[in-house]
Amino acid sequence: MRIYPTGVQKEMLKKTFGCCRLLWNQMLAERNGVYQLLKENSEALREHKYKTEKEYKMEFKFMKEVDSKALQSTTRHLLEAFNNFFKGLKETRKVGYPKFKSKRNKQSYTTYNINANIKIDFTNKRIKLPKLKTWIKYRDDRTFAEPIRHVTVLKTKSGKYFVAILIEKELDIAPMIELREDRIGAFDMSASEFLVGEGEDFCNPRFYRSSEAKLKRLHRQLSRKKKGSQNRWKARLRLVRYYEKILNQKHDWVHKTTFNLAKKYDAVILENLNIQAMQQFNSGLSKSVSLDFSWHQFITILKYKLEWRGKFYQEVGRFFPSSKLCSTCGYKNKSLELAEREWICPECSVHHLRDENTSINLKKEGIRLLQEKGIVIIT
Ligand SMILES: [Zn+2]
Repeated sequence: MRIYPTGVQKEMLKKTFGCCRLLWNQMLAERNGVYQLLKENSEALREHKYKTEKEYKMEFKFMKEVDSKALQSTTRHLLEAFNNFFKGLKETRKVGYPKFKSKRNKQSYTTYNINANIKIDFTNKRIKLPKLKTWIKYRDDRTFAEPIRHVTVLKTKSGKYFVAILIEKELDIAPMIELREDRIGAFDMSASEFLVGEGEDFCNPRFYRSSEAKLKRLHRQLSRKKKGSQNRWKARLRLVRYYEKILNQKHDWVHKTTFNLAKKYDAVILENLNIQAMQQFNSGLSKSVSLDFSWHQFITILKYKLEWRGKFYQEVGRFFPSSKLCSTCGYKNKSLELAEREWICPECSVHHLRDENTSINLKKEGIRLLQEKGIVIIT
């Protein structure tokens, strides 16, 4: 939710962002340096004792003024980033090397709720954060009774402040044991439509196209302004705000689409991440308006929205020949090309529309996998 800190509060938040950023960059630089020194000697590299957070706090005394939990989570996040990077190397999955943080980008820190040092007052719409002596006003109508686990404070590039609050809630939902076949949705990724199923498609948001023209215009306006001028600063702010707007639209779209899927279906079957289709889907769009960032997020959100209702998300393996099988007789049409939108089965003579046939096969395979888990399917 959005928060509205006062000038004094902004100063404290700025200090905290700054200290966390400094700690992150110092620790990262130390690791880079040690790696350069010891990369020939893997044992020494493994055994190397890095400076502790405490030692950094001794070195930069002003770090004591800010929330110590924020510094702790910075350390933890950096170590996690390295772990993910090394794990990614082993699994040949692409995970970026941890990057230095810049004060020109969005700022954030995460703090933990220990001994109720984070409080929220729903009546007066204000939140209390560690080390901030006064309450910060927020605007939001949601309330909750569960204890707060942690809070991430965020400042966008355009200067807005937000908090993301993580709460822990026990869900007492038993997974469904019987599913009606007509309440199971199977979808194939498509370049033009995003998700294609029998009966219903979930289309990609067309507003990206129109956003792109405006983005180009804003970029052009910025490049025309004199460096260091007030007008340039204003143009940059307009651009940054517009990027944030697009990002919000993406989030909105992802949440709406996953919500609709989880409401309509008791199980959703998707083909395991099809990178090629995703690239096609994003082709011709600039990175800022493409959906690539959110495919993983899309699945994560869809999964929990289903699970919270006792429903199921079922992935079908990437190597399942969903488009090549005849959904009527099971014949495998090995020579089917990507461009062939329809075909006639040489075995049973049924005429197939490619997308429809694919989603029927996906559904069959998904149902088989659900049944393997002991779920009963009612036709
Ligand atoms: Zn056939």
